[in-house]
Amino acid sequence: MYYYSTNKQIKGKKFKDVLFEGLAPDGGLYMPENFPSLNNKFLADLANKSFGEIALEVGKLFIDDIPEKDLKEIIDDAFSPDAFIDCGEGFPAPLVKISDNIYVEELWHGPTMAFKDFGARFMSRAMGYFLRQTKKELKIIVATSGDTGSAVAAGFYNVPNIKVYILYPSGKVSDLQEKQLTTFGGNITAVEVNGAFDDCQKLAKQILGDKELNGKGEFSSANSINFGRLLPQMFYYIFGFAQLVKKGIKDVNFCVPSGNFGNLTAGLIAKRIGLPIGMFIAATNINDVVPEYLHTGVYKPRPSQKTMSNSMDVGNPSNFARMLDLYENNAKLMVKDIIGISVTEEETSRTIGNVYEKVGYLLDTHSAVAVKAAQESGIDDVIISLSTAHPVKFKDAIEPIIGKKIEIPGKLKEIINKQKKALFIENNLEELKNILRKN
Ligand SMILES: *Cc1c(COP(=O)(O)O)cnc(C)c1O
Repeated sequence: MYYYSTNKQIKGKKFKDVLFEGLAPDGGLYMPENFPSLNNKFLADLANKSFGEIALEVGKLFIDDIPEKDLKEIIDDAFSPDAFIDCGEGFPAPLVKISDNIYVEELWHGPTMAFKDFGARFMSRAMGYFLRQTKKELKIIVATSGDTGSAVAAGFYNVPNIKVYILYPSGKVSDLQEKQLTTFGGNITAVEVNGAFDDCQKLAKQILGDKELNGKGEFSSANSINFGRLLPQMFYYIFGFAQLVKKGIKDVNFCVPSGNFGNLTAGLIAKRIGLPIGMFIAATNINDVVPEYLHTGVYKPRPSQKTMSNSMDVGNPSNFARMLDLYENNAKLMVKDIIGISVTEEETSRTIGNVYEKVGYLLDTHSAVAVKAAQESGIDDVIISLSTAHPVKFKDAIEPIIGKKIEIPGKLKEIINKQKKALFIENNLEELKNILRKN
């Protein structure tokens, strides 16, 4: 399998190159040069497949520079019962039925209780594998406004040959998020920057472009445009589908709460390789550039607006380039597969309240955007609505809606009692460089 860049200046890359480069040197995003097909026998027997078996089957189609037995080890470690809590037969991504035709697929049983664990854990272990081969060391630098940093830190924690530096804005992440970023120790260094998220991002970019520190490419960014993060997200589409096939349900649609649209893109590729999915619903909050494109054929990126589903506050989604590539820049082709629906803040609150009252199921703010969009879609067949975070992660927004405290799960309680360890710096490149040289 080879990969090319959506900017078309680069092609013929192997998975390993794509994994370490992240963004292609021409500024484009990597895509596979062809779409291999899922084996018919495998599809016919889908109902009996475990998550790990699905992951290996799909992984093999896109990665031919890791031997199968090593790929299996990477998968077993990434999605091990030590990292994802026991959630019964649907481990690690169980379905919960919340209405006649809507099933929620819970993607938050991993260490940081958000779906980004799937991508981060697979990518980090794949990187660790290649680094062991070459005996090289890699330094990852990430800027975070909260959640991405903790998924990356948790994903890379204790992976040999990798050091991680997390830059976060002082005083601008929640207490819980700060604890999730600063209590790892080991190969994870938290750097608390006296500035805003944008300052952190700028510093990270400056390091990546710094001739002295990064002349030989020791640093990488591990950000969400990496195909190595997107690939493992295909696994849970197929696994969710498999769980319904087991119940005798065959006409399945997916609803995806979207920000940078990596999650949705993974689903679109799963369909391209032969998973017989009906429609996709691209659910957004009021940051609705993609639904607008689907309705008008015109793409108008703009600054994001703040909402209570803040991980989806994106005004110019990075993976839109991949979506355009998949559909030949043609909105008319795209709407054959995707319905775009944007959901207001008020609708989000009401959906959390209604679903909690009617079925006693508590949605987080992001997952509620998806459920509302699924309800509005006009689709009568079954819809799997992806649930991307545990509600406790957004309890400040959710508790007033339901008028109740949300119990903090044991796993997070432990973190709250741990000691914060962060290196404080001013918003200053030289100070940061000093830390990177010494640590
Ligand atoms: C990142 C994130 C999203 C958006 O996912 P994309 O792949 O960027 O579209 C949705 N919900 C939560 C909780 C997230 O952290």
